[in-house]
Amino acid sequence: MRIFLFSKKSITILLFILIFTIFLIIYLLVYSKCEINCSSEVSDDFLHNINTLTSGKEKVAYLTFDDGPTTSVTPKILEILKEENIKASFFVIGKCVEAHPEIVKQAYDEGHYIANHGYSHNNDILYKSSESFINEITKTDLAIGKAISIENYCSHIFRFPNGFMAPLYKKEKEKMASLLPNINYTYIDWNCLNNDSVKKCSNTELLNNLKESSKNKNTLVVLMHDTKDVNDSSLVLKDSISYLKSQGYEFRNFYDLPWGHSFG
Ligand SMILES: [Zn+2]
Repeated sequence: MRIFLFSKKSITILLFILIFTIFLIIYLLVYSKCEINCSSEVSDDFLHNINTLTSGKEKVAYLTFDDGPTTSVTPKILEILKEENIKASFFVIGKCVEAHPEIVKQAYDEGHYIANHGYSHNNDILYKSSESFINEITKTDLAIGKAISIENYCSHIFRFPNGFMAPLYKKEKEKMASLLPNINYTYIDWNCLNNDSVKKCSNTELLNNLKESSKNKNTLVVLMHDTKDVNDSSLVLKDSISYLKSQGYEFRNFYDLPWGHSFG
């Protein structure tokens, strides 16, 4: 009986602990594994950081690879990044994700940021209407989410094909960019490139292009492509990394930015 009386107080404490634990578990399940999904809102700080990234004073290089995944180049890039212990960001094309989901999964599992480059990479479809533009982004997120088994995946970062800064489709791009905050998105261009998609270059030329383009800049957002459409940047990636390291750069990806919430 005495034990029972004593237990009454204990039961209250135990109940309290139990309820607290349940809330803690729910919190951890929801937030600590907070994959970037549509409901995870990006903070104003994050948007500010993305928008001003290239004017940063730190010697940091954000390697970004567009237009993949491809079976011919992306795996080679992933291998080099693994050897160098560098996390990069991939602006994937939705239809390519559907064709090679296993490569996207590998990139994601290895800590790279999977960002959105539209579903078709076709300006006629992309800028046909506001609905078409949003559809290009959401279809791509859906394909990524399927590949990496995350429901409602949202990459939050879009890159316009050919870049926002390119004069082509300028009016359309400005209009579409204004829609991005509605779907919890922002966009980013680059401030450094090796011109791997412009014309056929030797490996030395590609490396020299990167050296020239990075000259006198602090924070770099480096544009390369993980395709073989014009050049194969995987062939100069090691040398490019060595060069940037020799210039005092450290490497980060978009996960390293202050988001206002944590990722699992
Ligand atoms: Zn592209």
